[in-house]
Amino acid sequence: MPGARIKPKKPKTKPLADQEFLRLGKEHFAEDFPNPTRQGCPPDSTLKLLADKPTEVEESVLTHLSSCSPCYRTYSHFLQQQKGKTQSQS
Ligand SMILES: [Zn+2]
Repeated sequence: MPGARIKPKKPKTKPLADQEFLRLGKEHFAEDFPNPTRQGCPPDSTLKLLADKPTEVEESVLTHLSSCSPCYRTYSHFLQQQKGKTQSQS
């Protein structure tokens, strides 16, 4: 039977999830983009919102995170706070 070998392709494209973004970040830009003057950085509240409700934050913030280590660290800090609420509270 010719044609029986045709399989539907499953494209593996999905939006970058928090986890993947975090992992990518740890590998690539946790240290590579020092930005001591925090130029062009969104306020911490925006980074917190990104950890809290990613859909409510403009994509430009994510783009900024990908090239700014301090913001990325702040963001991952908020993200960990979110997940570790049952753990240590100080
Ligand atoms: Zn920044």
